[in-house]
Amino acid sequence: MKHEESPANEDQPGALWEPGEEAAKGSGTPFRNEVNELYAHEQAGRHLGSLLTDLGERNLYDAAAQCNRCGYCETSCPTYMLTGRETISARGRNQFVRMLIEGSARNTGAAEESLSTCLLCGACSSACYAKVATPDIVLEGRRALTGYGDNFFARAAINTLLNAPRLFAFWLRLAYLAKRTGLPRLAAKMGLYDFIGMPGLAEAEGSVDEAPLRFASEILAEDPELKSENRKEINWGYFAPCGPNFLFTGVALATARVLKAHAGAGILIENQCCGLMAHNYGRLDDAREFARRNIARWEELRERHGDFAIIADCSSCAAFMKSYEQLFTADHEWRPRARAFAAAVKDILEFLPPDRDWKADLAALERAGTVTYHDSCRACHGQGIRQEPRAVLRKLAGRRYKELPESDWCCGGAGAYAFTQPDLSRQVLDRKLRNIASVQASTVVVGGTSCLAQIGAGLRSAYPSARAVHYSVFLDEVSKK
Ligand code: SF4
Ligand code: SF4
Repeated sequence: MKHEESPANEDQPGALWEPGEEAAKGSGTPFRNEVNELYAHEQAGRHLGSLLTDLGERNLYDAAAQCNRCGYCETSCPTYMLTGRETISARGRNQFVRMLIEGSARNTGAAEESLSTCLLCGACSSACYAKVATPDIVLEGRRALTGYGDNFFARAAINTLLNAPRLFAFWLRLAYLAKRTGLPRLAAKMGLYDFIGMPGLAEAEGSVDEAPLRFASEILAEDPELKSENRKEINWGYFAPCGPNFLFTGVALATARVLKAHAGAGILIENQCCGLMAHNYGRLDDAREFARRNIARWEELRERHGDFAIIADCSSCAAFMKSYEQLFTADHEWRPRARAFAAAVKDILEFLPPDRDWKADLAALERAGTVTYHDSCRACHGQGIRQEPRAVLRKLAGRRYKELPESDWCCGGAGAYAFTQPDLSRQVLDRKLRNIASVQASTVVVGGTSCLAQIGAGLRSAYPSARAVHYSVFLDEVSKK
């Protein structure tokens, strides 16, 4: 029987999901021909061998099948709540992946939309009793999309970042220089942002006052206090994620100052990119190579210094590094090394002890006004970090601290989501801005650089009396050293 596709039944799960003759392998499908190999572990170059879920190690099919379609997570899912469309809820997405593997998804266009519109925020997993790993499942499904990860610019950027990081920095500097000389459109036209694989950066860098011409890792490498050869025992090593390193340099410098003031001795790790960009673009071999280099660098430093915490000040990168083991489930040599590395990773949000005697600079606190805290998705849903930063902020800000309604609702930044899904992203952001306005906050503290760019830009256009600041910057400005 040939199924007719009709917009009228587009959001009727039964109509979309009942097994049909037109399997995902059919011509014209937006998915790769070998979509059923999603199930096969041999596709390790493009797909993860298996997922490490809260219920244990599972192949993709079994992980998606853990979703019993109870719908308990529906009201946590921003894309479902905004549209009321079942196909773009966690339940719909898990079901699509399962049916793609079975070859029984007949509306593959709807499956593509379903997977492409997911924020990967993880709110559904937090709400789910079975802890279904929907963001990982969705990413695996996306990797089966035709052309996904084969984009020339993404390939060039990741290769350059991996094999010629100085050249990457050179191109980025050129783009920023064009902006400084009043030629930001020229930089965009020259394709510089595309070249470095960050087409959204043209807008994101508009959210910092001045795009940096010296990157944080270059500045911090000159600090004698942070040099490994000048230190013996240390408590921490600063891992500079790409956002703070290349864009929000002030965040990285503030993190280093705050760590030095409140966490004892430490060093600059001189790391590579964590590999998250390669991972999300479906270039898993490159992501593994970034991971191997970072693990080897940490092992070398641990030989010299003993155990220390790896501190990252972007929650997306910290959460990703905590999941390194998942990149190596079929690799007996690297799997235990990745697990040991992941155990040492700490988000700056959780590392600074709340029970310390935090004291505020009253003039700085006065300038900050009413303070609130936005939970970055990869902090609260990805790492379970909720109480630690709040405890520190409450100690510092006292009565000026106000809880943000729906603080763990995504802001719509979600990496490149603001640029790939601008309408949905804007709607998600508007809800966040309304919540910020409802507590009349002047300072919104965040832990992810994507949130910093997204909420910062939203506040500037809709609510300019408030500003978004990174947790490290807030502590650097307000806490007494
Ligand atoms: S993801 Fe979890 S909560 Fe959501 S429908 Fe599936 S089983 Fe239920
Ligand atoms: S990750 Fe976020 S957007 Fe995606 S299904 Fe889950 S709650 Fe919805």
